[in-house]
Amino acid sequence: MDFDAFFEAGLQGLREAGNYRVFADLERHHGAFPAATRYREDGSSQEVTVWCSNDYLGMGQSQVVTAAMKEAIDRCGAGAGGTRNISGTNHYHVLLEQELADLHGKESALIFTSGYVSNWAALGTLLARIPGIIVYSDALNHASMIEGIRHSRCIKRVFRHNDPEHLRELMAADDPAAPKLVAFESVYSMDGDIAPISALCDVAEEFGAMTYLDEVHAVGMYGARGGGIAEREGLMHRLTVIEGTLGKAFGVMGGYITGSKALCDFVRSFASGFIFTTALPPALAAGATASIRHLKQSQLERRRHKDAVAKVRAALDRQGIPHMDNPSHIVPVMVGNASKCKWISDVLMDQYGIYVQPINYPTVPVKTERLRITPTPLHSDGDIDRLAGALSDLWSQCALARAVA
Ligand SMILES: *Cc1c(COP(=O)(O)O)cnc(C)c1O
Repeated sequence: MDFDAFFEAGLQGLREAGNYRVFADLERHHGAFPAATRYREDGSSQEVTVWCSNDYLGMGQSQVVTAAMKEAIDRCGAGAGGTRNISGTNHYHVLLEQELADLHGKESALIFTSGYVSNWAALGTLLARIPGIIVYSDALNHASMIEGIRHSRCIKRVFRHNDPEHLRELMAADDPAAPKLVAFESVYSMDGDIAPISALCDVAEEFGAMTYLDEVHAVGMYGARGGGIAEREGLMHRLTVIEGTLGKAFGVMGGYITGSKALCDFVRSFASGFIFTTALPPALAAGATASIRHLKQSQLERRRHKDAVAKVRAALDRQGIPHMDNPSHIVPVMVGNASKCKWISDVLMDQYGIYVQPINYPTVPVKTERLRITPTPLHSDGDIDRLAGALSDLWSQCALARAVA
């Protein structure tokens, strides 16, 4: 077999469907977020403003975080040196897990090398090991949860997105004696909508089910201490597992679950994706701990972030640029056409020095292609005006419909 010809044919299929991904080659500038240098394929470069980062609060550039990471490197060196079980557990990991358990009001926490791995390993392990368990999964759950569920080979039901009534119907139709788990997110990444956590917990409770909440897009961002939507709504105690990432608002890298001591110890003891992999570098754990501690007591970043989101929405409204109205910090600017979406993104980058990645099918449904804009506390009023002005120019050039105020 000509393997490379096979690979090329597969890639050609993606190109023809408009789904071939091209990475922007960026160098972020410490202390100058959201500025970055973009390297072009021809070797030239340009300065750009990043408008699509999941470093929602700019903590990845914060002195609080980078100083803690540098100090940890000076104390401990680069890598962890092993799996958690075989010489890799560093004191910084222990401190981070204590910090996370406290953040979510749980007995225990367990860290993983990413949020993806935490969902995959925790759901995969719990669902594979509890005999006869049925999982109820929101229709828009993230790939990492879907893969964990698939890996477990347990019985799976998919309930309509954010629909507690459909969840109840599905649960009522199953054997009352079967153990059950309901898995969902708080803030959904692409539409920025928020789950009815309380209503979903009510249904889960009615059927004696465990609840598993992915707060990846909410930790650090919502709640008085950055514990997420469940903290804001006083619901953390109703969730069996709260999962999160250290790579988005906390600005570093890694993932985690929090829950009871027995549950976390169980996953620690049985999850292959936790056991057989090198522990996070101590410096990452130190940086994440510093970030979490800072966001537990500081409201400044969250307040400025809210202001920036409101300003971006207002600036888009002034130009009649349609964006999805949602109760979160994610601003989806709706283009509704894959090639125009890609073209606008390319021109924004090349001619305006504005970087927003286009979001096309299969990440979102066809005809809902969009630019997913994530304002941060560090975007200036000038940045916001330039973004809205550039979009207005391109809206005219593409003859796209304006929103009516
Ligand atoms: C990004 C994301 C993850 C994965 O987190 P990483 O730390 O980036 O691996 C999990 N769940 C959701 C909903 C996400 O958007």
